[in-house]
Amino acid sequence: MTKQPVLVLGPLMPYLLAELEKRYAVEKLYAEKDALKFLQENAGRFRAAVTSTFTGITADMIDLLPQVEIISSFGVGTDSLDVAYANSRGIRVANTPDVLNEDTANMALLLLLAATRDLVKNDRFVREGRWARGESAPLASGIEGKRVGLVGLGRIGSVIAQKLLAFGCDVAYHTRSRKPDAPYTYYDNLVDLARDSAALIAILPGGEATRGVISREVLQALGPDGTFVNVARGTVVDEAALVELLQSGELGRAGLDVFADEPNVPEALFKLDNVVLQPHMGSATLETRRAMADRVVTNLEDYFAEKP
Ligand code: NDP
Repeated sequence: MTKQPVLVLGPLMPYLLAELEKRYAVEKLYAEKDALKFLQENAGRFRAAVTSTFTGITADMIDLLPQVEIISSFGVGTDSLDVAYANSRGIRVANTPDVLNEDTANMALLLLLAATRDLVKNDRFVREGRWARGESAPLASGIEGKRVGLVGLGRIGSVIAQKLLAFGCDVAYHTRSRKPDAPYTYYDNLVDLARDSAALIAILPGGEATRGVISREVLQALGPDGTFVNVARGTVVDEAALVELLQSGELGRAGLDVFADEPNVPEALFKLDNVVLQPHMGSATLETRRAMADRVVTNLEDYFAEKP
Protein backbone atom coordinates (compact mmCIF):
# COMPACT_ATOMS: atom_id res chain seq x y z
CA MET A 1 0.00 0.00 0.00
CA THR A 2 1.43 3.44 -0.85
CA LYS A 3 1.95 5.63 2.14
CA GLN A 4 0.00 8.86 2.56
CA PRO A 5 2.33 11.89 2.12
CA VAL A 6 2.74 14.00 5.27
CA LEU A 7 4.56 17.35 5.32
CA VAL A 8 6.60 18.10 8.45
CA LEU A 9 7.08 21.86 8.82
CA GLY A 10 9.84 22.05 11.46
CA PRO A 11 12.24 19.83 13.42
CA LEU A 12 10.67 17.15 15.64
CA MET A 13 12.09 14.76 18.23
CA PRO A 14 13.70 11.72 16.52
CA TYR A 15 11.18 9.30 18.09
CA LEU A 16 8.24 11.18 16.60
CA LEU A 17 9.87 11.43 13.19
CA ALA A 18 10.55 7.67 13.24
CA GLU A 19 6.95 6.85 14.24
CA LEU A 20 5.64 9.09 11.45
CA GLU A 21 8.01 7.52 8.92
CA LYS A 22 6.73 4.03 9.82
CA ARG A 23 3.23 5.06 8.74
CA TYR A 24 3.53 7.92 6.26
CA ALA A 25 5.67 9.19 3.39
CA VAL A 26 7.25 11.98 5.43
CA GLU A 27 8.74 15.02 3.70
CA LYS A 28 10.56 17.71 5.68
CA LEU A 29 9.86 21.27 4.58
CA TYR A 30 12.58 22.60 6.92
CA ALA A 31 15.21 20.49 5.15
CA GLU A 32 14.40 22.04 1.74
CA LYS A 33 16.88 24.66 0.51
CA ASP A 34 14.10 26.58 -1.23
CA ALA A 35 10.95 25.90 0.78
CA LEU A 36 8.77 28.20 -1.33
CA LYS A 37 9.79 26.50 -4.58
CA PHE A 38 9.22 23.09 -2.98
CA LEU A 39 5.71 24.16 -1.95
CA GLN A 40 4.91 25.61 -5.38
CA GLU A 41 5.82 22.29 -6.97
CA ASN A 42 4.57 19.82 -4.30
CA ALA A 43 2.04 21.39 -1.93
CA GLY A 44 -0.92 19.80 -3.74
CA ARG A 45 0.23 16.31 -2.67
CA PHE A 46 -0.25 16.82 1.09
CA ARG A 47 -3.52 16.26 2.94
CA ALA A 48 -1.74 16.43 6.32
CA ALA A 49 0.88 18.67 7.90
CA VAL A 50 2.74 18.18 11.19
CA THR A 51 4.06 21.10 13.22
CA SER A 52 4.77 21.98 16.87
CA THR A 53 4.15 24.85 19.27
CA PHE A 54 7.76 25.89 18.57
CA THR A 55 7.39 25.96 14.75
CA GLY A 56 3.70 26.96 14.64
CA ILE A 57 1.74 27.69 11.45
CA THR A 58 0.67 31.07 10.07
CA ALA A 59 -2.26 31.95 7.80
CA ASP A 60 0.25 32.57 4.97
CA MET A 61 1.66 29.07 5.36
CA ILE A 62 -1.85 27.60 5.44
CA ASP A 63 -2.57 29.39 2.14
CA LEU A 64 0.48 27.68 0.64
CA LEU A 65 -1.02 24.24 1.48
CA PRO A 66 -4.25 24.13 -0.58
CA GLN A 67 -5.00 20.41 -0.08
CA VAL A 68 -4.20 20.14 3.64
CA GLU A 69 -7.16 18.89 5.70
CA ILE A 70 -5.46 18.29 9.05
CA ILE A 71 -2.63 19.98 10.96
CA SER A 72 -1.33 17.83 13.82
CA SER A 73 0.74 19.85 16.29
CA PHE A 74 3.18 18.69 18.98
CA GLY A 75 2.32 20.60 22.18
CA VAL A 76 -0.81 21.87 23.89
CA GLY A 77 -0.34 25.63 23.30
CA THR A 78 -2.12 27.00 20.25
CA ASP A 79 -0.77 30.57 20.40
CA SER A 80 1.66 29.90 17.54
CA LEU A 81 -1.03 28.22 15.38
CA ASP A 82 -3.57 30.26 13.43
CA VAL A 83 -6.39 27.93 14.44
CA ALA A 84 -9.16 30.39 13.57
CA TYR A 85 -7.86 30.78 10.00
CA ALA A 86 -7.34 27.03 9.59
CA ASN A 87 -10.89 26.36 10.78
CA SER A 88 -12.29 29.03 8.44
CA ARG A 89 -10.70 27.03 5.61
CA GLY A 90 -12.26 23.81 6.94
CA ILE A 91 -8.90 22.47 8.18
CA ARG A 92 -8.83 20.53 11.46
CA VAL A 93 -6.11 21.39 13.98
CA ALA A 94 -5.08 18.81 16.60
CA ASN A 95 -2.80 19.35 19.63
CA THR A 96 -1.54 17.17 22.51
CA PRO A 97 -3.37 18.17 25.72
CA ASP A 98 -3.56 16.27 29.04
CA VAL A 99 -0.53 13.97 28.62
CA LEU A 100 1.73 16.83 29.76
CA ASN A 101 -0.33 18.03 32.74
CA GLU A 102 1.65 16.25 35.47
CA ASP A 103 5.13 17.21 34.25
CA THR A 104 4.21 20.83 33.57
CA ALA A 105 2.57 21.04 37.01
CA ASN A 106 5.71 19.50 38.53
CA MET A 107 7.79 22.21 36.84
CA ALA A 108 5.57 24.87 38.41
CA LEU A 109 6.10 23.32 41.87
CA LEU A 110 9.84 22.91 41.23
CA LEU A 111 10.19 26.57 40.29
CA LEU A 112 8.06 27.71 43.23
CA LEU A 113 10.12 25.71 45.72
CA ALA A 114 13.46 26.49 44.07
CA ALA A 115 12.74 30.23 44.06
CA THR A 116 11.32 30.48 47.58
CA ARG A 117 14.04 28.25 49.11
CA ASP A 118 16.93 29.89 47.18
CA LEU A 119 17.84 26.45 45.84
CA VAL A 120 20.03 27.54 42.92
CA LYS A 121 21.62 30.40 44.84
CA ASN A 122 22.53 28.04 47.69
CA ASP A 123 23.86 25.43 45.26
CA ARG A 124 26.29 28.11 44.04
CA PHE A 125 27.06 29.02 47.67
CA VAL A 126 28.25 25.44 48.33
CA ARG A 127 30.18 25.10 45.04
CA GLU A 128 31.96 28.40 45.58
CA GLY A 129 33.28 27.09 48.92
CA ARG A 130 31.51 29.78 50.90
CA TRP A 131 29.91 27.26 53.29
CA ALA A 132 33.31 25.65 53.93
CA ARG A 133 34.75 29.12 54.65
CA GLY A 134 32.27 29.51 57.49
CA GLU A 135 29.76 31.82 55.81
CA SER A 136 26.09 31.13 56.40
CA ALA A 137 23.34 31.33 53.78
CA PRO A 138 20.45 33.69 54.61
CA LEU A 139 17.14 32.13 55.64
CA ALA A 140 14.71 31.48 52.81
CA SER A 141 10.87 31.42 52.77
CA GLY A 142 8.48 28.50 53.27
CA ILE A 143 5.22 27.96 51.35
CA GLU A 144 3.24 25.93 53.88
CA GLY A 145 0.09 27.71 55.00
CA LYS A 146 0.59 30.50 52.46
CA ARG A 147 -1.88 31.52 49.78
CA VAL A 148 -0.78 30.66 46.24
CA GLY A 149 -2.74 32.28 43.42
CA LEU A 150 -3.17 30.49 40.11
CA VAL A 151 -3.77 32.56 36.99
CA GLY A 152 -5.57 29.89 34.94
CA LEU A 153 -7.32 26.82 36.31
CA GLY A 154 -7.65 24.54 33.29
CA ARG A 155 -6.15 21.10 32.70
CA ILE A 156 -2.69 21.98 34.04
CA GLY A 157 -3.77 24.60 36.60
CA SER A 158 -6.07 22.07 38.26
CA VAL A 159 -3.19 19.61 38.67
CA ILE A 160 -0.96 22.35 40.11
CA ALA A 161 -3.74 23.17 42.60
CA GLN A 162 -3.90 19.54 43.82
CA LYS A 163 -0.14 19.41 44.25
CA LEU A 164 -0.14 22.73 46.15
CA LEU A 165 -2.68 21.25 48.59
CA ALA A 166 -0.23 18.44 49.32
CA PHE A 167 2.31 21.13 50.29
CA GLY A 168 -0.18 22.66 52.71
CA CYS A 169 -0.86 25.78 50.63
CA ASP A 170 -4.07 27.75 50.52
CA VAL A 171 -5.05 27.78 46.83
CA ALA A 172 -6.88 30.66 45.14
CA TYR A 173 -7.33 31.45 41.45
CA HIS A 174 -8.23 33.99 38.82
CA THR A 175 -9.82 33.07 35.47
CA ARG A 176 -12.26 34.98 33.25
CA SER A 177 -15.13 32.87 34.57
CA ARG A 178 -15.53 31.22 37.97
CA LYS A 179 -15.18 27.41 37.93
CA PRO A 180 -18.24 26.19 39.87
CA ASP A 181 -16.69 22.81 40.74
CA ALA A 182 -13.36 24.21 41.97
CA PRO A 183 -13.06 24.21 45.78
CA TYR A 184 -10.69 27.21 45.77
CA THR A 185 -11.20 30.92 46.47
CA TYR A 186 -12.07 32.76 43.24
CA TYR A 187 -10.87 36.30 42.51
CA ASP A 188 -12.39 38.16 39.60
CA ASN A 189 -9.66 40.79 40.04
CA LEU A 190 -6.08 39.71 39.42
CA VAL A 191 -4.49 42.61 41.34
CA ASP A 192 -6.50 41.63 44.43
CA LEU A 193 -5.38 37.99 44.05
CA ALA A 194 -1.74 39.10 43.78
CA ARG A 195 -2.05 41.36 46.83
CA ASP A 196 -3.47 38.48 48.92
CA SER A 197 -0.99 35.81 47.71
CA ALA A 198 2.55 34.86 48.69
CA ALA A 199 3.08 33.49 45.18
CA LEU A 200 1.40 33.75 41.80
CA ILE A 201 1.65 30.99 39.19
CA ALA A 202 0.78 31.80 35.56
CA ILE A 203 -0.77 28.83 33.73
CA LEU A 204 -3.05 30.35 31.11
CA PRO A 205 -2.72 30.28 27.30
CA GLY A 206 -0.47 32.73 25.45
CA GLY A 207 -1.38 34.79 22.37
CA GLU A 208 -2.81 38.27 21.85
CA ALA A 209 -5.82 37.73 24.16
CA THR A 210 -3.60 37.28 27.23
CA ARG A 211 -0.67 39.56 26.34
CA GLY A 212 0.58 41.39 29.45
CA VAL A 213 -2.24 40.13 31.70
CA ILE A 214 0.37 39.90 34.48
CA SER A 215 1.01 43.63 34.43
CA ARG A 216 3.41 45.84 36.39
CA GLU A 217 0.53 46.60 38.75
CA VAL A 218 -0.09 42.89 39.39
CA LEU A 219 3.62 42.25 40.08
CA GLN A 220 3.80 45.27 42.39
CA ALA A 221 0.77 43.97 44.27
CA LEU A 222 2.59 40.64 44.73
CA GLY A 223 5.33 42.73 46.31
CA PRO A 224 8.81 42.35 47.86
CA ASP A 225 7.90 39.15 49.72
CA GLY A 226 6.09 37.65 46.73
CA THR A 227 7.18 35.06 44.18
CA PHE A 228 6.09 34.95 40.54
CA VAL A 229 6.22 31.63 38.64
CA ASN A 230 5.60 31.45 34.89
CA VAL A 231 5.02 28.09 33.19
CA ALA A 232 2.53 29.57 30.70
CA ARG A 233 4.04 31.77 27.98
CA GLY A 234 6.45 34.70 28.19
CA THR A 235 3.88 36.96 26.53
CA VAL A 236 1.42 36.77 29.46
CA VAL A 237 3.66 38.96 31.62
CA ASP A 238 5.05 42.48 31.14
CA GLU A 239 8.61 41.15 30.93
CA ALA A 240 10.32 44.56 31.11
CA ALA A 241 8.42 45.37 34.32
CA LEU A 242 9.21 41.90 35.70
CA VAL A 243 12.96 42.44 35.21
CA GLU A 244 12.88 45.96 36.69
CA LEU A 245 10.89 44.94 39.77
CA LEU A 246 13.13 41.92 40.43
CA GLN A 247 16.19 44.19 40.13
CA SER A 248 14.80 46.80 42.52
CA GLY A 249 13.45 44.23 45.00
CA GLU A 250 9.88 45.50 44.58
CA LEU A 251 9.14 41.90 43.58
CA GLY A 252 10.79 39.25 45.76
CA ARG A 253 11.56 36.26 43.61
CA ALA A 254 10.69 34.54 40.34
CA GLY A 255 10.85 31.09 38.73
CA LEU A 256 10.63 31.35 34.95
CA ASP A 257 10.30 28.56 32.38
CA VAL A 258 9.08 30.74 29.50
CA PHE A 259 10.09 34.07 27.95
CA ALA A 260 8.72 36.58 25.46
CA ASP A 261 11.44 36.06 22.81
CA GLU A 262 12.71 32.50 23.27
CA PRO A 263 15.46 31.38 23.24
CA ASN A 264 16.56 34.93 24.13
CA VAL A 265 16.26 35.66 27.83
CA PRO A 266 16.73 39.24 29.15
CA GLU A 267 20.41 39.28 30.12
CA ALA A 268 19.66 41.40 33.20
CA LEU A 269 18.13 38.24 34.74
CA PHE A 270 21.46 36.38 34.55
CA LYS A 271 22.89 38.64 37.24
CA LEU A 272 20.00 38.19 39.67
CA ASP A 273 20.15 35.73 42.56
CA ASN A 274 16.40 35.94 43.20
CA VAL A 275 15.46 34.27 39.89
CA VAL A 276 15.51 30.63 38.79
CA LEU A 277 15.58 30.12 35.02
CA GLN A 278 14.64 27.17 32.82
CA PRO A 279 14.81 26.83 29.01
CA HIS A 280 11.07 26.07 28.47
CA MET A 281 11.22 22.57 29.98
CA GLY A 282 7.68 22.21 31.41
CA SER A 283 6.80 19.09 29.43
CA ALA A 284 10.39 18.05 28.75
CA THR A 285 10.69 14.57 30.21
CA LEU A 286 11.30 11.47 28.10
CA GLU A 287 8.00 9.96 29.22
CA THR A 288 5.85 12.99 28.50
CA ARG A 289 7.52 13.94 25.23
CA ARG A 290 6.98 10.35 24.03
CA ALA A 291 3.32 10.46 25.05
CA MET A 292 2.95 13.78 23.21
CA ALA A 293 4.58 12.26 20.12
CA ASP A 294 2.20 9.27 20.25
CA ARG A 295 -0.69 11.72 20.42
CA VAL A 296 0.50 13.55 17.29
CA VAL A 297 0.49 10.21 15.45
CA THR A 298 -2.89 9.01 16.76
CA ASN A 299 -4.43 12.39 15.92
CA LEU A 300 -3.41 11.80 12.29
CA GLU A 301 -4.45 8.14 12.33
CA ASP A 302 -7.85 8.97 13.83
CA TYR A 303 -8.40 11.66 11.21
CA PHE A 304 -7.61 9.35 8.30
CA ALA A 305 -9.75 6.60 9.91
CA GLU A 306 -12.60 9.17 10.07
CA LYS A 307 -12.76 8.94 13.85
CA PRO A 308 -13.65 12.11 15.80
P1 NDP B 1 -6.56 25.05 29.44
O1 NDP B 1 -7.16 25.60 28.18
O2 NDP B 1 -7.04 23.75 29.96
O3 NDP B 1 -6.72 26.14 30.62
C1 NDP B 1 -6.50 27.50 30.43
C2 NDP B 1 -6.97 28.27 31.66
O4 NDP B 1 -6.63 29.64 31.49
C3 NDP B 1 -8.48 28.22 31.88
O5 NDP B 1 -8.74 28.03 33.25
C4 NDP B 1 -8.96 29.60 31.43
O6 NDP B 1 -10.15 29.93 32.14
C5 NDP B 1 -7.76 30.46 31.81
N1 NDP B 1 -7.67 31.71 31.06
C6 NDP B 1 -7.77 31.92 29.74
N2 NDP B 1 -7.65 33.22 29.45
C7 NDP B 1 -7.47 33.86 30.63
C8 NDP B 1 -7.30 35.23 31.00
N3 NDP B 1 -7.29 36.20 30.09
N4 NDP B 1 -7.14 35.53 32.30
C9 NDP B 1 -7.16 34.55 33.24
N5 NDP B 1 -7.32 33.23 32.96
C10 NDP B 1 -7.48 32.90 31.66
O7 NDP B 1 -5.00 25.03 29.14
P2 NDP B 1 -3.89 24.05 29.78
O8 NDP B 1 -4.03 24.08 31.27
O9 NDP B 1 -3.85 22.75 29.08
O10 NDP B 1 -2.56 24.84 29.33
C11 NDP B 1 -2.37 26.20 29.67
C12 NDP B 1 -1.16 26.76 28.92
O11 NDP B 1 0.04 26.27 29.51
C13 NDP B 1 -1.03 26.35 27.45
O12 NDP B 1 -1.87 27.13 26.61
C14 NDP B 1 0.45 26.58 27.19
O13 NDP B 1 0.67 27.89 26.70
C15 NDP B 1 1.09 26.45 28.58
N6 NDP B 1 1.98 25.29 28.64
C16 NDP B 1 3.31 25.47 28.93
C17 NDP B 1 4.16 24.38 28.99
C18 NDP B 1 5.61 24.58 29.32
O14 NDP B 1 6.44 23.80 28.85
N7 NDP B 1 5.97 25.56 30.12
C19 NDP B 1 3.71 23.02 28.73
C20 NDP B 1 2.28 22.93 28.49
C21 NDP B 1 1.47 24.04 28.43
P3 NDP B 1 -11.21 30.99 31.53
O15 NDP B 1 -11.46 30.54 30.12
O16 NDP B 1 -12.41 30.93 32.42
O17 NDP B 1 -10.53 32.32 31.60
